[in-house]
Amino acid sequence: MDYSVIRSRRRTVSLEVTPDAQILVRAPFEMTDADLARIVDGRKAWLKDHVRRQEARKKSLAQVQPLTVREADSLKVRARADLTLRTARQARLMGLCYGRVTIRLQKTRWGSCSSKGNLNYNALLMLAPEAVRDYVVIHELCHLVEMNHSPRFWAQVERYCPDYDSRRSWLKVHGDQLMARAFPV
Ligand SMILES: [Zn+2]
Repeated sequence: MDYSVIRSRRRTVSLEVTPDAQILVRAPFEMTDADLARIVDGRKAWLKDHVRRQEARKKSLAQVQPLTVREADSLKVRARADLTLRTARQARLMGLCYGRVTIRLQKTRWGSCSSKGNLNYNALLMLAPEAVRDYVVIHELCHLVEMNHSPRFWAQVERYCPDYDSRRSWLKVHGDQLMARAFPV
């Protein structure tokens, strides 16, 4: 089994399979290569399973149809109209004021909320179900009240979106596929 090792002043060994399906081992300076090899060998089944899963994931992402420039532009236009409206509607229900709404095609996040109260959404949300879009809007609006992901923040989200967990899971499961349409892997 191939793996890379990063040694540091840590005390324990940690094994990780990266999104790129590579095995990464973190180990203390003083551990010998032989001891390390024994530990990796002991977790062989687990590692193989994870490598296989990441490879399958990579493969399915590589098959995603990339958006054309025209499709991407149209997505942004639709996102601006849709998410601006959803935000206005939801903010009224929640009794909140916010700043500007911007729409971007981004690789790493679905939305964000600045300390000035400006909201930013990923245009790729238009490829997600409406319920998921509403969840992201509620999530960002709740950041106007709680600028963190504390239990207090999640209690706010739950108040306006009682089934937020399943909507959030949808993004976790399908998010990479959506991102890959604008940012091919
Ligand atoms: Zn957040």
